[in-house]
Amino acid sequence: GHEGILRRQAARESAARTYARALPIVPVRARGLTVEGADGRRYLDCLSGAGTLALGHNHPVVLEAIRKVLDSGAPLHVLDLATPVKDAFTTELFRTLPPGLADRARVQFCGPAGTDAVEAAFKLVRAATGRTGMLAFTGAYHGMTAGALEASGGAYDVRVARLPYPQDYRCPFGIGGERGAELAARWTESVLDDAKSGVPLPAGMILEPVQGEGGVVPAPDGWLRRMREITAARSIPLIADEVQTGVGRTGRFWAVEHSGVVPDVMVMSKAIGGSLPLAVVVYRDDLDVWQPGAHAGTFRGNQLAMAAGTATLAHVRENGLAERAETLGARILARLRVLTEHFACVGDVRGRGLMIGIEMVSPDAPPPIDATGPRPPAPSLANAVQRECLRRGLIVELGGRHAGVVRLLPPLTITDEQTDAVLDRLTDAIAAVAS
Ligand code: PMP
Repeated sequence: GHEGILRRQAARESAARTYARALPIVPVRARGLTVEGADGRRYLDCLSGAGTLALGHNHPVVLEAIRKVLDSGAPLHVLDLATPVKDAFTTELFRTLPPGLADRARVQFCGPAGTDAVEAAFKLVRAATGRTGMLAFTGAYHGMTAGALEASGGAYDVRVARLPYPQDYRCPFGIGGERGAELAARWTESVLDDAKSGVPLPAGMILEPVQGEGGVVPAPDGWLRRMREITAARSIPLIADEVQTGVGRTGRFWAVEHSGVVPDVMVMSKAIGGSLPLAVVVYRDDLDVWQPGAHAGTFRGNQLAMAAGTATLAHVRENGLAERAETLGARILARLRVLTEHFACVGDVRGRGLMIGIEMVSPDAPPPIDATGPRPPAPSLANAVQRECLRRGLIVELGGRHAGVVRLLPPLTITDEQTDAVLDRLTDAIAAVAS
């Protein structure tokens, strides 16, 4: 049963296991927003497979698509061969692409995870430019393989230069807003000016249109357009990591569409596989300098994931779920922002679409930099909120550069009533922690 499974896995799994520590749940059944544990408890799941489940758990269109492949007798493993399933997926994926990329796109199917696609994007721009360096941003998260980890600030490597990501709440310049974002852009520009004196330019720039793991930090559209100008002027390919922001989550099918920026390369995973592992890099055809075999891998043709992904992409598009994410997200933000007035431990509420973050701060500690600035982050309070949510049958994600952010990533299919239930439980949990 429940306890035995938890105990045995805790003893046998690596010390690196993460979610299982904070969420002592043994999921046995799930549908939509709801997950049921082996102990019979039911939860509202706003972790959604770390933002993967655009349609929630076991959506009928996803299950039907998977069953159809199984029942057809199609081979499940085909390496990277062309199949009707892949044909359908590619057609649907290309249909979603931002104008400017859609008509000139190439896709590279990658190893199963987002981090594999990030590595592929780095390799691609290095091959295309003949250069090696990479620009990435403070607070970024791109994955756990070596190159992606460097770009996430997990290690310091001379090949990755890290630049300030604009931030309202903890703006590195203490300004925030458009002015803070403009200073961040100028810093980036000035770093690149050194290349004029014979220092080689980087091979690419990678950014998240909204930082997810970094604590839900939406980049201002103006800053994204500045990054597009700065990279275009120097022929540096711009890589948008849409692993978490894609497939409608932020209120557009792809988050770059808010700004109208057309990246040279897009990294996609999570929701594109409809809950099964799938990752791709999509890029403009003139970057396609790869020789046959330049990026190989055994698991680049997951037929079930492609079928589930096709169904998911089509369902999001046909049902206007990106628009739904935008309106519902705005309503959630409006309701949660009230919490900053009621509870001194709620420092900031921010987000875009159904990617929402609540930054917990130490109510008693003075702001570290200036009296009007944010109070210090409070990771222990964020942990406590997560625990209190769990007790009330609500699963939430944590994140943030200082681990102080409670995150909501509900499926785009969440109903108004379910949204109210989530917000009620979350508010109760915060009230319990604040008292
Ligand atoms: N990029 C972003 C923006 C992500 O949020 C993540 C995962 N949270 C990754 C890359 C890595 O994806 P994966 O965990 O599938 O390797």
